[in-house]
Amino acid sequence: MSTDSFTDSPQKRPTVLLCIGMAGSGKTTFMQRLNAHLHSVKKPPYVLNLDPAVTQLPFTANIDIRDTVNYKEVMKQYNLGPNGGILTSLNLFTTKFDQVLEFISKRAPTLEHIIVDTPGQIEIFTWSASGAIITDAMAATYPCAVAYIIDTPRTTSPATFMSNMLYACSILYKTKLPFILVFNKTDVVSHEFAVRWMTDFETFQQALQKDSSYMSSLMNSMCLVLEEFYKHLRVVGVSAITGAGMDEFFKAVDEAVKEYETVY
Ligand code: GDP
Ligand code: MG
Repeated sequence: MSTDSFTDSPQKRPTVLLCIGMAGSGKTTFMQRLNAHLHSVKKPPYVLNLDPAVTQLPFTANIDIRDTVNYKEVMKQYNLGPNGGILTSLNLFTTKFDQVLEFISKRAPTLEHIIVDTPGQIEIFTWSASGAIITDAMAATYPCAVAYIIDTPRTTSPATFMSNMLYACSILYKTKLPFILVFNKTDVVSHEFAVRWMTDFETFQQALQKDSSYMSSLMNSMCLVLEEFYKHLRVVGVSAITGAGMDEFFKAVDEAVKEYETVY
């Protein structure tokens, strides 16, 4: 048996990367980039697609929810709209997640990364029992990190930035996993403004005051919450389209996972 097998060397378990983010932030494109990057500079990853409604996947998935459930049929059968159809499909898939874990565990000794794409609408994964069950099951077995994908060009207004960060904060609070803020689409807008707002509290407050003059005390309190939140995460700027920032991303993942293992 090889010395770095799963049982001989538990610290060599593959790292799970959960791609979470608002609809259109670029999760699927980022997955494609992760897959290509890992194929070319590291080991090919194990790939899971949990989005039942995606029409075309730009990568090959080892496990694809669409092979198990047909979300259009689920909509018809249960008389649901699109969101209900996606959520119910995820619920049906989750009832078989023990089988998914078995598949993964067979491949685990040869893997370094398991990458997971989640449904387009963020809350279907982050605010559902199924999302929590899948996340907990993965995190119980493997080191796991959340890549929170942000649509940088659509977050340049201070109020939108604040809401997106508060949402990210709520996910960190729920999952309690190593967390990487991935500012995507830096080929369109650089994420420098975000880094400035996150490191210089006063600059952000000034920007917010320009944006809205009322509710300032609530805004100030929320800024304090965010200051605390920023201490628990890593920030990288990437472009899923051009591949910029991928080395920094993997460095952040390794650091976050290592720190998590020593602290918790
Ligand atoms: P998802 O809903 O989060 O899975 O988002 P998608 O991966 O489907 O991407 C949504 C849109 O953003 C698509 O039109 C992508 O081509 C575009 N997109 C994703 N990543 C980037 C990027 O790094 N740069 C640019 N310019 N567009 C991107
Ligand atoms: Mg997608």
